[in-house]
Amino acid sequence: MEARIIDGKKVSEEILNELQRDIQKLKDEGNPPGLAVVIVGEDPASAAYVNMKEKACARLGIYSEIHRLYATARHAELLDIIEDLNDNPSISGILVQLPLPKGFDQSDVLQSIFPVKDVDAFHPENVGLMLVGTPRFMPCTPYGVQVLLQRSGVDVQGKHVVIVGRSNIVGKPLAAMLMQKAKGANATVTVCHSQSRDLPGICRSADVLVAAIGSPCFIKADMVKEGAVVVDVGINRVDDPAAQKGYRLVGDVDFENVKKVAGAITPVPGGVGPMTIAMLMHNTVRAAKLQVGE
Ligand code: NDP
Repeated sequence: MEARIIDGKKVSEEILNELQRDIQKLKDEGNPPGLAVVIVGEDPASAAYVNMKEKACARLGIYSEIHRLYATARHAELLDIIEDLNDNPSISGILVQLPLPKGFDQSDVLQSIFPVKDVDAFHPENVGLMLVGTPRFMPCTPYGVQVLLQRSGVDVQGKHVVIVGRSNIVGKPLAAMLMQKAKGANATVTVCHSQSRDLPGICRSADVLVAAIGSPCFIKADMVKEGAVVVDVGINRVDDPAAQKGYRLVGDVDFENVKKVAGAITPVPGGVGPMTIAMLMHNTVRAAKLQVGE
């Protein structure tokens, strides 16, 4: 039997709809949420993500502003923009689109954002709060994975979750979240990376397998236990002359073959991607509330 498709688009729509009431309330009370996105350079994938974030804000009636800098801009220029946004009362959340071009100190930039406006949750203070189990914000993509699993009826409690990828953006924070003694967590988590021995064997021991690698169709059917839940975080552009844009998006999982083995699977697109945007909207609303002491 083929795997059940976990519909990230549908779940993200539910979340966006649920946020409408909170946004209206904040507006009625004179505290409308606002999101500032800063993008440096001309990377087409980053530009597309920023565009999606802007559209989501417009749809929900969240004020948004985009600050665009050339890749040749000075590091200090970027820090000046962030400082202004930190002081701007109409901005509840600040997000710097990653990765930054060469020459920028990413860690310095992320640390310059006020932690209460850090809707991406990459500031070390927010990372620490999450790790000790008292989160202020949760990083959007791993949070999206957790919520998607919960709302799709996948309980990770007591299960073996294997995460392939240990980036600060996806793998590490997801591991920290799912190992917490908390609802939607309590999993036994294994994190793999490029130096892991017997990766296929470890993957086959997963009840829930999460791929966050950045390598098209890397996870093959013989790396997946029958009936396992497979979450594909990967978004990779592969050339496709037949496609209108000359490329198409594929995940890190060989979807067509893995779905014959898995019990449930997230597609790309339409899986984790829309959840990331929904959780960013969630965090922006949360930031607006925090700033008025709610
Ligand atoms: P990174 O490149 O930062 O990290 C990739 C991880 O995969 C690293 O830990 C790396 O190991 C590991 N890896 C690479 N090759 C192998 C291999 N052969 N075997 C085992 N592990 C390997 O990527 P990100 O975490 O930023 O992103 C991962 C994917 O998720 C990308 O496709 C990205 O586009 C996508 N993404 C999607 C988002 C969404 O909204 N859906 C948001 C963010 C990312 P090592 O540490 O040893 O190098």
